[in-house]
Amino acid sequence: ASLTNQYVYAFHEGNARMKQLLGGKGANLAEMTRAGLPVPPGFTVTTEACHAYFKSGNQLTEETIRQIFDALARLESETGQAFGDARNPLLVSVRSGSVTSMPGMMDTILNLGLNDETVEGLAAATGNPRFAYDCYRRLIQMFGSVVLGIEGMHFERLLHRLKAKRGAEADQDVAAEGWRELIENYKTCVRSQSGREFPQNVREQLGLATEAVFRSWNNQRAQVYRRINRIPDDQGTAVNVQSMVFGNKGDDCGTGVVFTRNPSSGEANLFGEYLINAQGEDVVAGVRTPQTIGTLRSEMPDMYAELSQVCALLERRYQDMQDIEFTVESGKLYVLQTRSGKRNAQAAMKIAVDLVQEGVLTMEKALLRIEASHLDQLLHRGIDESAAADVLAVGLPASPGAAIGRIAFDPDVASEWKQAGKPVILVRPETTPEDIHGVLAAEGVLTSRGGMTSHAAVVARGMGKPCVCGCEDIRIDEERKRLVVGGREFAEGEWITLDGASGRVIAGAVPLKEATASPELLQMLAWADEVRSLRVYANADTPEDARIAREFGAEGIGLCRTEHMFFAPSRLEIMQRMIVADTPEERKEALDGLLPIQQSDFEGIFAAMDGLPVTVRLLDPPLHEFLPKAGELQTSLAEAKSEAERTEIKQLIRKVQSLHEANPMLGQRGCRLGIVYPEIYDMQIEALFKAAAARIEQQADVRLEIMIPLVGDASELKLLRGRIDEIAGQILTEEERRNCRYTVGTMIEVPRAALTAGRIAEYADFFSFGTNDLTQMTFGYSRDDAEGKFLTHYLDRKLLPHNPFQVLDAEGVGQLIDLAVTSGRAVKPALKTGICGEHGGDKDSIAFCHRAGLNYVSCSPYRIPLARIAAAQAAV
Ligand code: ADP
Ligand code: MG
Ligand code: MG
Repeated sequence: ASLTNQYVYAFHEGNARMKQLLGGKGANLAEMTRAGLPVPPGFTVTTEACHAYFKSGNQLTEETIRQIFDALARLESETGQAFGDARNPLLVSVRSGSVTSMPGMMDTILNLGLNDETVEGLAAATGNPRFAYDCYRRLIQMFGSVVLGIEGMHFERLLHRLKAKRGAEADQDVAAEGWRELIENYKTCVRSQSGREFPQNVREQLGLATEAVFRSWNNQRAQVYRRINRIPDDQGTAVNVQSMVFGNKGDDCGTGVVFTRNPSSGEANLFGEYLINAQGEDVVAGVRTPQTIGTLRSEMPDMYAELSQVCALLERRYQDMQDIEFTVESGKLYVLQTRSGKRNAQAAMKIAVDLVQEGVLTMEKALLRIEASHLDQLLHRGIDESAAADVLAVGLPASPGAAIGRIAFDPDVASEWKQAGKPVILVRPETTPEDIHGVLAAEGVLTSRGGMTSHAAVVARGMGKPCVCGCEDIRIDEERKRLVVGGREFAEGEWITLDGASGRVIAGAVPLKEATASPELLQMLAWADEVRSLRVYANADTPEDARIAREFGAEGIGLCRTEHMFFAPSRLEIMQRMIVADTPEERKEALDGLLPIQQSDFEGIFAAMDGLPVTVRLLDPPLHEFLPKAGELQTSLAEAKSEAERTEIKQLIRKVQSLHEANPMLGQRGCRLGIVYPEIYDMQIEALFKAAAARIEQQADVRLEIMIPLVGDASELKLLRGRIDEIAGQILTEEERRNCRYTVGTMIEVPRAALTAGRIAEYADFFSFGTNDLTQMTFGYSRDDAEGKFLTHYLDRKLLPHNPFQVLDAEGVGQLIDLAVTSGRAVKPALKTGICGEHGGDKDSIAFCHRAGLNYVSCSPYRIPLARIAAAQAAV
């Protein structure tokens, strides 16, 4: 073995797995060579050579230069041509090829090896001077702009002038003489623009071109593209040096691009374009209007047949739809590039299913190909991209789907208009639990503040409503009721459109495209269900949510938040009466009012989830969330008309003050509430068992799982569990108790609960990890404040890899989960475990849950298809 690195690989030495070293293009050229396809021979200068180039101060190392020219010598003997030879010159292309495809970002030079002498040799050898000069003028132009940094427009202007002078409409009307004249003009242009001659030494051409491609890694547009697409800056690019084939030699020549399947419909037909008598980028550059691949079938049937064979072979080899560049020289086909083709969501699904059915791809591999963004596009309405869009601003794409409506700044206005049949978009600086009826009424939500896990974002995602949040370019003038953006103003009632998938806010009503639950999507979901081991439950608070969840394939409810049932205006009032009650009797009276309402909610949910587990969490949030804000009360006090009214408001103010806490999220909430005010939980438990009994009477199959929030010590759970069993004993008859197999479990959302999970498990039938709170308390980050403040800063500076409220922190929070699962199961082997935070709908977090051995994930109904796929992806 030699001590020096191998910086250069001939195409026949590499393969598709060597992308990191050879770049995507180089690895695929090698793979195609290996497959025996007609690839013009050549070699790849590796990304390591690129790193070495940058390390030695933007210079090719001696070793790299030596290996390049050794490889070139071998290429000469393979082709029987010589680089710089006056009679039979070898010409090459120098092509960039990064590890991750960056289409159009970097540079390629064709026809390298031509100079004043070899161009004559090429003309004589081919008997086609026009062609030879065409190649040469292309080289000077590409070399001039890529290597010498001359702006393309200088060459364009000269070309334009020449055509005008010679009366040529298009490039192909220019004769040999014309190109010769242009070549002289180009050389003068190079001299005056760059202060140096176009190099006649072909070895110098090759060295300079290689360096220029390495350098182009750091050009502005490549850097921007990498930032947007999160491609690491230190990957570097490879350079491919390949012997030229010519599509510009005559009418039995051409060049084109073909997709092996239709990238917008997924249909299994070749799709693409080609140009006769053309070279390189002519097809994309719009020099002439290209012809469709369909035309090739009738014009050159043999060529079409051969191309079809190449396509089929490459698809089987790569097990995916390919985007292929080809050139035909004098009736012979060459393949110059292949890569996986870009496609839209619908096509992606169809192609993957078809490939499985054709036996090309396994179902497991097909599942791994599905991207979350694809599902978002297929399951939600979207903007019809063919229509013009007057984009006002772009915020965070917080909840996918598109919505059209009239601007409403006030949740009450939103809900009024909704009842009047007017579609609305709720526009707020940010939302709070009190705005929930406005969110419910709205087609979509737009906020100027708040991040991806802000209240608006979480609630909208839960309801499957489009939401754009944190849109800082808009200003909401609440007083004048105006939305101000980029010097324009929009009044309440004016139409806007939101695209929750891209974050765009668009003026007016833009046409939308409906969601498409295609047969392919359903097939893919069915396969996912075969493969996955995690069960997928829904977070659903109402019978309607439960019904939707079941339609999306939920296997139960993992979190039913009882407090959400109390936010409706009519119920909120009774709830408030209960909270401000001074005596247990008064409180009992208000609770008696709430009981039948809760019971009927539960009956509805049990009906929708017949035969499936329903996990109901007892009241969790601090009570003050149900009361009006102090400021609002002061206003109503000032506006109060009677003394009685004033007294009542004053009493409320006192109550609000007495409930005030400095840290409400660490205060009187969760099971602490249930322990201090037992009547509240008693009412909820009673409602649950009465609802269960009523359903059982209807021969229904009720699987009730009662969940206690915010337990931090086993004693809390022991106490409340005792209470549940007691009430069950009182409400259910002997027979009902036999038919109502309820379980009692707890959320694990306080770090101490995870640490003492073994003791807690003695009283729990299940653990449900409430990862929103668990993340908040493990990091010590206030979830409601972090995003707007330091978290964004942390993410920008890469102090954290992800927002931990979006992607579960496997390293820290994950340890607590692992520990709790292990110690819980040690005590109770049949302990059921799951997760019910926002993370339950996130792909990476679901993968963690699979590794941690949880039994289920629970997420918003609209995330269920994604969760089913993600759970399958984690399992394969
Ligand atoms: P990009 O990465 O921008 O697609 P490429 O390196 O693929 O750039 O080159 C662009 C085009 O140049 C190719 O599509 C092909 O038509 C042409 N080309 C590149 N190398 C050769 C070659 N050796 N012979 C003929 N044409 C070539
Ligand atoms: Mg290309
Ligand atoms: Mg919680």
